Parts: sequence; structure tokens; C-alpha cells
Amino acid sequence: MSESLDAFRQEARAWIQESLPEELKSGPRRGAPKEALDRWFQALTGKGWLTPDWPTEYGGGGLDRKQTQVVKQELKKARAPVPPASAFGTRMLGPTLLEFGTEEQKLEFLPQISRHEVQWCQGYSEPGAGSDLASLQTRAVREGDEYVITGQKIWTTGADKADWIFCLVRTDPDAAKHDGISFVLFPMHQPGVKVSPLTLIDGNADFSQVFFDGARAKVAHLIGPENGGWTVAKRLLQHERTTDGGSEGGITGAMKETFVDLVKREVGLRDGVLADATLRQRTAAQEMEANALRLTMRRAGEEARAGQSTRDIGSLGKYRWANMVKAEQDLAMQALGAQGLGWEGPGFEAVELQRTKAWLTTRSDSIWGGTNEVQLNVIAKRVLEIPE
Ligand SMILES: Cc1cc2nc3c(=O)[nH]c(=O)nc-3n(C[C@H](O)[C@H](O)[C@H](O)COP(=O)(O)OP(=O)(O)OC[C@H]3O[C@@H](n4cnc5c(N)ncnc54)[C@H](O)[C@@H]3O)c2cc1C
Repeated sequence: MSESLDAFRQEARAWIQESLPEELKSGPRRGAPKEALDRWFQALTGKGWLTPDWPTEYGGGGLDRKQTQVVKQELKKARAPVPPASAFGTRMLGPTLLEFGTEEQKLEFLPQISRHEVQWCQGYSEPGAGSDLASLQTRAVREGDEYVITGQKIWTTGADKADWIFCLVRTDPDAAKHDGISFVLFPMHQPGVKVSPLTLIDGNADFSQVFFDGARAKVAHLIGPENGGWTVAKRLLQHERTTDGGSEGGITGAMKETFVDLVKREVGLRDGVLADATLRQRTAAQEMEANALRLTMRRAGEEARAGQSTRDIGSLGKYRWANMVKAEQDLAMQALGAQGLGWEGPGFEAVELQRTKAWLTTRSDSIWGGTNEVQLNVIAKRVLEIPE
């Protein structure tokens, strides 16, 4: 590593240590005081480090690729939280706007995203259009400078808290199904938008059904060409499926205690190693898998930046990552034994209840952003180039 990058790492580490409130440095993150979280998020976004690689004129940190990697690594090492609903803006819409947005659109939306001032949700799936997304039926009819939108979305994460939606709509019902779709942005708080939350297996109601009946989107908020939204939509999915070498962490990333800490705590050590031989081997294998995935995705990222083809490599990462986090939570449940069977009430520690819910939540990691079967189809077609 170059000396200047090493110095940058020291600086980044020192800034994180100084800015991360004490309350967030220990204990389970869920239930952390809101005031401390707000203070940290303000510091993080003020520095532009929620989106470290975006240009400063769009609210980013203006860092180069290597510095960005350092910031991400140091934030991860400190297990510093990011705003829970930021991924829709920072990981998905932001990079898509950087590529497809006009200058006006970039200046209007990107700074708000980098400061996490606006919560976004993703209006892709419909009751008859999940894996077969291009079958979507939500209509948008142009009326002057606006589109009038009618239809239904489903499985819309965070819709009940979102300020804005990026939404796929059908603007030409007579065109072939991939050719009549547009990608538009519009506010959720307006007449003609109804949100109806659905409760999940882990007890949370993160999902909603969303009904549009005469909702309005400005034509100025159309991203890419009218009827040319499929290309934009696919690119956003590539961003969604990129797990950043597993570093997104999903639900496990939301917890202060690492998986290995949990196994050590529950099973105990004998002669300096985990007391249960089977769990020891499975834990080691799990950690090796996580490291292999992290390195593979880092290599894929380097190759992509060097201009070598890594088309849809995100699907490969998402597929392996989904299997990995599910296996990790299964192992955590094995280590917890009966203590992993709690829902609420006495007899269970908060961290144990948190793990049980995390285990349930991770069942969905092989579904969102395209199911594992769909990722395998993409890998076969676009990575391995196997003919249909
Ligand atoms: C936690 C979570 C969050 C989500 N958040 C959002 C969100 O914010 N916004 C949004 O728009 N959507 C969201 N979704 C929806 C998600 O994208 C869809 O659930 C997913 O694309 C699968 O679609 P489906 O549920 O309609 O299943 P279906 O498409 O009906 O699939 C059912 C089964 O058939 C299999 N299958 C379907 N087609 C094929 C094929 N061609 N080859 C092989 N197998 C196939 C699937 O793999 C699956 O096992 C979320 C889902 C989850 C679980």
C-alpha cells in the first residue's frame, strides 16, 4: 500500500473513532438511542461518506476508488451503522442517475440522497410481475407535462416511510413487453397513492402493497427515454445485486456482535478453540466462504474498473452471498440451541431474540432483487454465455 493511502487510512480511522458516538461503539445496534444515531448520520453525510465516491458537486466525498475502498473498510471494521433505508438511494438510484440522469436531474436528486434527506422506495414488482418483471401492467398516460399513473405494486420495501418512489410504468401498452416501459420518479405523499403494509415472518411490516389511482409524475422526472426504461431498470438491478463482496452484511451487518463472537459466547472455548468440534469446522468453513466471496467480488470490481468484461457479476455475488448469509444464520441457530427459539418475554437475552428474528429475515435474501433461480439463469446466460 502506498504511503499516502496508508496515511489516508489512519485519518479515516481517526475520524470515525472521533465521530462515532460512544453509544454506538458497543452493545447491540438495534435499540441504540436515536439521538446518537442521528448525530452519527449527520457527521457521516456531512463528510460525504455515505457516498464517498460520488463527485462533491452531487454531495459525495469526491474520493478516488482506492480511498473509497479504505473508507468502506474502516466503516465496516468499526461496525459503524449507515441509515437503514439508504440503500435504495445510495446503492441503487444514485449510481443509476449518475449514468442515465440529465444534469438537472443529478443536481436535483443526488445531493438529497447523499445527505439521506429523502427516503426512496422501489416500485418494480407487481402481483403478476416478479421474476417476469417485464410483464408489469401499471400504466402511465401522458397529460401535458405530467404522467397520470394507475396500477398496483407489491413487496415495496419501506413504502410506508418513503418520500419518493422510483417506479417502472407501462407507457406504451401496444409495444412488445420490454419496449413499452418507462422509469419515473415521483413523490409518495400525494393524492392517488395508497400504501397498505404487509407483515413479514420476522414480525416486521417492512413491505407494502402500493396502489396508484391517478398519481402524478412530472415528465421532467422521467429517467432515460420514454419507453426506454427497461435498460435503466436492468442497470439498477445490477447495482442492487452487487453485494460489495458481502460487505453489505444485510441483517447480520445490523448487529454489533459478529457471528464468530456469537458462536464463541454460546459454545465457549476449550484450549483456545471452540469447544464443539463440528461447529468449529463449520464455523471455519463459513468464514473461509465469506473471505473467498469478499476477495472474488473485490477482484471482479478491479477487473470491471480495468475495463475487462464482468457483465452481471453482481448476480454471481448476490447468489453466493444469499446462500452464505442463510448458512451463517443457520449456524448461529445451531450454536444458540433452545435459546434461538424465543420470540419475546423472559428467559431470552435481547441478542438471542435479535438472532432469531435475523434468522427468519435472512430467509428472504434468496428472493429479493431476483430469486436465486433467476440469478442462476442470469449467470448461465450473461456470465457463462450458455445459449438458451
Ligand atoms: C425482502 C424482500 C424485499 C423486496 N423488496 C422489493 C422492493 O422494495 N421493491 C420491489 O419492487 N420488489 C421487492 N421485492 C420483490 C422481489 O423482487 C420479488 O419477490 C422477486 O423478484 C420474485 O418475484 P415473485 O415474488 O413474484 O416470485 P415469482 O416470480 O412468482 O417466483 C416464484 C418461484 O418461481 C421461480 N421462478 C420464476 N421464474 C423462473 C424462471 N424463469 N426460472 C426458474 N425459476 C423461476 C422463482 O425463483 C421462485 O422460486 C422484495 C422481495 C423480498 C423478499
